[in-house]
Amino acid sequence: MALPQIVIVGGGFGGLAAAKALKNTPAEITLIDRTNHHLFQPLLYQVATSALFPGQIATPIRAILRNQKNTTVILGEVTGVDKTQKCVFVTDADREDVPLAYDYLILATGVTHSYFGHNEFAKFAPGLKCLADAEAIRNKILQAFEQAEAEDDPTRHRDLLTFILVGAGPTGVEMAGAIAVLVRSTLKSEFRRIDPVNARIVLVDMSPRVLPPFSEKLSKAARQRLENLGVEVRLGHSVDQIDEDGIVVAGERIVSKTVVWTAGVAPSPAGKWLQVETDRAGRVRIQNDLTVPGHSEIFVIGDTASLDQNGKPLPGVAQVAMQQGRYTARVIHNRIAGKPAPSPFSYFDKGSMAVVGKGFAVLQSGKVQVSGFSAWLAWAGVHLQFLATSSLRLTVFLQWVWTYVTGQRGSRLIVNHHVSVPGKPATDSATKAAVASK
Ligand SMILES: Cc1cc2nc3c(=O)[nH]c(=O)nc-3n(C[C@H](O)[C@H](O)[C@H](O)COP(=O)(O)OP(=O)(O)OC[C@H]3O[C@@H](n4cnc5c(N)ncnc54)[C@H](O)[C@@H]3O)c2cc1C
Repeated sequence: MALPQIVIVGGGFGGLAAAKALKNTPAEITLIDRTNHHLFQPLLYQVATSALFPGQIATPIRAILRNQKNTTVILGEVTGVDKTQKCVFVTDADREDVPLAYDYLILATGVTHSYFGHNEFAKFAPGLKCLADAEAIRNKILQAFEQAEAEDDPTRHRDLLTFILVGAGPTGVEMAGAIAVLVRSTLKSEFRRIDPVNARIVLVDMSPRVLPPFSEKLSKAARQRLENLGVEVRLGHSVDQIDEDGIVVAGERIVSKTVVWTAGVAPSPAGKWLQVETDRAGRVRIQNDLTVPGHSEIFVIGDTASLDQNGKPLPGVAQVAMQQGRYTARVIHNRIAGKPAPSPFSYFDKGSMAVVGKGFAVLQSGKVQVSGFSAWLAWAGVHLQFLATSSLRLTVFLQWVWTYVTGQRGSRLIVNHHVSVPGKPATDSATKAAVASK
């Protein structure tokens, strides 16, 4: 008898956890992702601020699943789902919208940036979601220092060295802290005409406090720490304008060449593909067995799904996605094996953490609230543990120790990827036809 076909779309935290947990299921599993790697997004900000190399936070998905004989990995972009024919449509380098049949479908396609209706901001304020984003932001930050050093007019230095983070959630706070450490340690003695320590780092958010998901006490501790690092924290106002000259907030223009968007996310189009009910943000409303109403064979998990627990929606964090991935695998395995369904999904919250500069983090887990070095040690341990392979764990650990002791960073290269024009040298104009760096 033909084996059941399980299609997983997305090799992020949710999709990969599901695939791994299906290792012993008698089925043919196909995992499709539009990138060839599983990305550890919580450390993206460290690539964007030169602390780590891109290859230290991402691993080819087929390498992770190389010993899993029942699983095939396909590099391709899913463009739609036909619920009646039970197939997804996949576009790859050579072919468009090729149908791929499923008996069980797991959609784990995550989120993308949301500019809250101001898509025109995207051009001037890149978001941080994938490796290409992190490299582009790293280029921008490092380029700003180079431009300032080359600039004869010292009155322009301040503008060139103003870095703005829009969004004071964990990513904005971690980025602001990391830039502050970068200018105060690694870069401090390398320039002659500018002093990187004079760089201005501004963190803006309409929320009245930084790190809104954390308790008020931890939020205050994080803000205090940022201010001690020299970060200007501007809260309570949304950004009115972002353009090539910087931002306008609360009627004031702050001139800057480097604005990073860390404010909002929007789910993948999974809800549109399925034409099912979504929440206000566009995430697919799922049932407590993680299936879509009326389709017990379609599961939607992770950031692109919406499920309430104890009257509140589950947060868009890696733990939710991984626990949902493993749960979905159990449901499918039991069905194939003719066993009873597991009890409804219940998220176990292990806590949240955010780093604020060198050797300082905030940690909240149940009633435990800690800030400082001990929280940072816990943060480092947990993040190392969740990296995809032992080789990543080792290299990241060594890099962190090296950076902690010497202040030296992993990767400070400005790499502009561009399309080569035959017969033409790689000039700046060629670089302007840049494609997203990989
Ligand atoms: C900068 C940053 C920092 C974060 N920090 C933390 C943190 O400290 N702690 C924490 O718990 N969470 C953190 N998160 C959130 C966490 O990364 C997400 O909650 C988690 O990745 C969600 O998992 P997922 O499987 O739903 O989606 P993802 O992990 O985003 O995976 C989605 C996958 O689907 C693929 N995909 C999308 N669309 C298609 C398509 N059409 N066709 C094929 N493939 C597709 C993508 O390439 C990707 O591999 C952070 C996120 C970001 C961006």
